[in-house]
Amino acid sequence: MLVLRRVSFLLSSPSPRAPLAKPLLLLRPPQTLAPTARQLVAMAASVPSAGGAGTMSRDAFRAAVTNTLERRLFFVPSFKIYGGVAGLYDYGPPGCAVKANVLAFWRQHFVLEEGMLEVDCPCVTPEVVLKASGHVDKFTDLMVKDEKTGNCYRADHLLKDFCKDKLEKDHTLSPEMAEEYNRVLAILDDLTAEQLGAKIREYKIVAPDTKNSLSDPYPFNLMFQTSIGPSGLSPGYMRPETAQGIFVNFKDLYYYNGNKLPFAAAQIGQAFRNEISPRQGLLRVREFTLAEIEHFVDPEDKSHPKFGDVSDLEFWMFPREDQMAGRSATRLKLGNSISEGTVNNETLGYFIGRVYLFLTQLGIDKDRLRFRQHLPNEMAHYAADCWDAEIECSYGWIECVGIADRSAYDLRAHSDKSGEKLEAHEKFAEPREVEKLVITPSKKELGLAFKGNQKLVVESLEAMTETEALDMKAALESRGEVEFKVCTLGKNVTIKKNMVSINIEKKKEHQRKFTPSVIEPSFGIGRIIYCLFEHCFYQRPGKTEDEQLNVFRFPPLVAPIKCTVFPLVKLEKFEAVAKKISKALTAAGISHIIDMTGNTIGKRYARTDEIGVPLAITVDHTTSVTVRDRDSKDQIRVDVDEVASVVKEVTDGQSTWADIMWRYPAHTASAADEDGAQP
Ligand code: AMP
Repeated sequence: MLVLRRVSFLLSSPSPRAPLAKPLLLLRPPQTLAPTARQLVAMAASVPSAGGAGTMSRDAFRAAVTNTLERRLFFVPSFKIYGGVAGLYDYGPPGCAVKANVLAFWRQHFVLEEGMLEVDCPCVTPEVVLKASGHVDKFTDLMVKDEKTGNCYRADHLLKDFCKDKLEKDHTLSPEMAEEYNRVLAILDDLTAEQLGAKIREYKIVAPDTKNSLSDPYPFNLMFQTSIGPSGLSPGYMRPETAQGIFVNFKDLYYYNGNKLPFAAAQIGQAFRNEISPRQGLLRVREFTLAEIEHFVDPEDKSHPKFGDVSDLEFWMFPREDQMAGRSATRLKLGNSISEGTVNNETLGYFIGRVYLFLTQLGIDKDRLRFRQHLPNEMAHYAADCWDAEIECSYGWIECVGIADRSAYDLRAHSDKSGEKLEAHEKFAEPREVEKLVITPSKKELGLAFKGNQKLVVESLEAMTETEALDMKAALESRGEVEFKVCTLGKNVTIKKNMVSINIEKKKEHQRKFTPSVIEPSFGIGRIIYCLFEHCFYQRPGKTEDEQLNVFRFPPLVAPIKCTVFPLVKLEKFEAVAKKISKALTAAGISHIIDMTGNTIGKRYARTDEIGVPLAITVDHTTSVTVRDRDSKDQIRVDVDEVASVVKEVTDGQSTWADIMWRYPAHTASAADEDGAQP
């Protein structure tokens, strides 16, 4: 989704779990200094939270998670042996598996369950497409340069860091200055290039690395430019979102769907944004996977037949009125937020509910997830309503899914530019008599009067709204002529009665043509995955007092590997049983690893806990084995021939571990079983 400036990180709030040394001074700005909304959001931005960092500071928690993720190859900086490139990351084996699981569930939860039409369009996009969508002109962030080294920084980030630093660390700060810095933080997103530049100069902000002075801010387009073909004459860009590929295919997709609305198209693919100075790991990168849905709907009927399936869901919502009034997010029932008009329409509400189910079923903590409505100044002028699914992690509240009702903007933009009508129609059961305004400019008379400008005058007359046309008709009838502003000429012209005829005519219509509205849920897969990593990570005491063992409590659905198989000791007969079980697991489609190393069983458990494997099978017998649950560390004893189907039941989600515990005898682990240190 294109918005002029992006705001995902401005709303981060201090975590209730990890208070800052000195609380942020979030004061109301003086009454004269509107707007206050963002500041109030920051004040109100806290919901109860659970799990995760425990007593650790945010930074220590993040360091522990990131260290584990990189050490176990979930992800690593790309091109590391050459020093890496900011904002580019590689997913290693467990990271790839988690991502594949998230995407498979996305396809099942959205594409399959909603009967969406999936497409796969190129990343390289010709300029004309992104010109029509507005990206070529408006997809920018404001940048400043170190005047000596040429290093680049995001102007709003520098100003934000400066103000936050002052508020957090300057203990001599006067209340007036605290109020001033808070006000700047509140309106940061609305500052023009000139205003940002003025603040940078006023606060004497310099380049963070060199302390050199900075240039004035100027817009930097975030798209990677390229040229298509060897001539260099056909400019193109790496797509900054996948949505445009769907919009340009609307006509064919509508036909494929039997010319029926509503329908949704979906696309998973890479998006590219040349972020000015990416920080925050996987959260702000230069190439990332987006999963986007464009749901096309009749603008006159945005009801949803399956809304009843989600209307009873209750979760944290943060409507714009609450943000502006300085209130906190509240738990709302989705059905009530529609009936009370908080959410604009049922289809938008339906997707909010489905996104909630998707994220929580993946393992996102429902108390660290909220749906925040965009403030009026955040929303594009054409949007009817927008909500972001924000997830709290050690970086604050992060926008992970944007859910927007974009009205007819995108299809109209591509219709205008391409000349291809991207419309839908509704056939009437009976023809309807309608009154239609018909504007017929007299090209001959207008040509005589305006010569070379005739075409522009004709176009302006034809583009009049109904009210403008009826006013003109009345004026021409009473006075015989009227002054008319032709915007494309930049001046007024005099229109006389013989130059245009304006009539209301009765017509029979068999169908209604319209441009569909688009409701767009847009998922940043990397951001969701990173938040999932944080929400699933915890540490538990190891063998010694200061040893901490890392665990990812991934639900089986997303766990990179579902099960491990260990022979208890290095004995040929146990290894043969382990291989037999491995065969059965493969046949059942369960990802697993066999660990035949001679490490102690405790060490092997600890290693697999650290990559979040839910179940471990230990072969200590030739007819029955133990199955251990990662989180409770409980063990049961199961026959060798049955074990693959038991594991499948749990990892497919047909049974929980608690269900299984009832059915099989418990196995009491010896203390030595859990003595593992992690490498
Ligand atoms: P937007 O089109 O800007 O609303 O972005 C759609 C989604 O993409 C957001 O909700 C984020 O989850 C994700 N996203 C946007 N920019 C980035 C980035 N630089 N790195 C990672 N994810 C991003």
